[in-house]
Amino acid sequence: MEFQDKLELLGGEAAQDISCQTCAANPRASIITHRAHQPLSSNSPLALEAGKRVRDLKPWLATAIRSDGQKISIVKTLMTSACEKDCYYCATRRGRNSVRRETFKPEELAAGFNIIHQRGFAEGLFLSSGVIGGTRTMEKTIAAVDLLRRKYEFRGYVHLKLMPGAERAAIERAIELADRVSVNLEAPNSERLQKLSGTKQFTQELLAPLRAARELMRQRPEFARTSMVTQFVVGAADETDREIMATTTRLYRELALARVYYSAFHPVRETPLENHAPTNPLRERRLYQADFLLRQYGFAFDELAFDADNNLPLDTDPKTMWARAHPEKFPLDVQRAAREELLRVPGLGPTSVERVLKLRHSHTFTTLQELKRLGADAEHAAPYILLNGKPPPQQLVLFRV
Ligand code: SF4
Repeated sequence: MEFQDKLELLGGEAAQDISCQTCAANPRASIITHRAHQPLSSNSPLALEAGKRVRDLKPWLATAIRSDGQKISIVKTLMTSACEKDCYYCATRRGRNSVRRETFKPEELAAGFNIIHQRGFAEGLFLSSGVIGGTRTMEKTIAAVDLLRRKYEFRGYVHLKLMPGAERAAIERAIELADRVSVNLEAPNSERLQKLSGTKQFTQELLAPLRAARELMRQRPEFARTSMVTQFVVGAADETDREIMATTTRLYRELALARVYYSAFHPVRETPLENHAPTNPLRERRLYQADFLLRQYGFAFDELAFDADNNLPLDTDPKTMWARAHPEKFPLDVQRAAREELLRVPGLGPTSVERVLKLRHSHTFTTLQELKRLGADAEHAAPYILLNGKPPPQQLVLFRV
């Protein structure tokens, strides 16, 4: 099978993993910039494509947003679509007949990716994998990235999955090689994971590699440039949002994760959960909003409002829920309120608050239009603020997600 055919298959299988949507600003990026778009010499490894038109690579590329806001194009693929695990929601699970099993050899993947990079199509690699032979899969993914770094001198962005039960030496090498590592916990605790897999162990196999990685990052200062993330499948284990956000809070506090991703469950045919109802995408959105409150707005887990079923209400975003429950905190005078107070106003975000703080020394805000121009959702903020000492006019907003 040609490299591109394998990439089409294994890239498609990796599509469900959304934990690569953002990436850390890459300290090595400046080194690769001048390499992209270089013309290829006639004896380049692109002999792989000799005599053929290169097929459009776009379907196998994903976009990741760097922490400095820049978008980069990354190749997103599995090392192998073979798997000995039985995750009940997964299209790649063992025994699912309709999935075609293919595997990259480390050199094949490294050389193929290098071609794509040299042609200027991708600046980064996200490498995940099915699990075969326990931790042996991770030896192969590490071997591929090792080749990429040493043989092909690739200095760009690499996000490498740590396999379930990964050993400490492999985790250490992964951190040395990658800019970001991750383990998808999939469920917020051991009890819920049992509803998603009969072959994965939450604490020993999934949490332990994250803990080991965190310990290594504490011990070796040069590892500080590598970040860690995880992902939950939302709704497949009938877990509550309270359980998810409680685990998220611990992951940020104890393991210093850079991000937690939430992926609304969609049933896959020929899996044990094929008849399970899909998760409302609005639930995923509410989890992201609650997550932002924890990470960027100074909220604590105890300040999140859950309904009687321990879920985040779908009809109102979590920040507005909090503001409505605390009328004693509002209205806030935009001209005088502290940064932390302004961040609690629905409709104001970190960027618009920073702009307000910067401008208000020399400018008196009198209209909602002025806040809008700074990027705020001014109508949403109107009931909670004073402009020039007065409540701004309010418009009736019928529905807001
Ligand atoms: S470990 Fe689970 S989620 Fe990952 S590929 Fe195998 S079955 Fe799918």
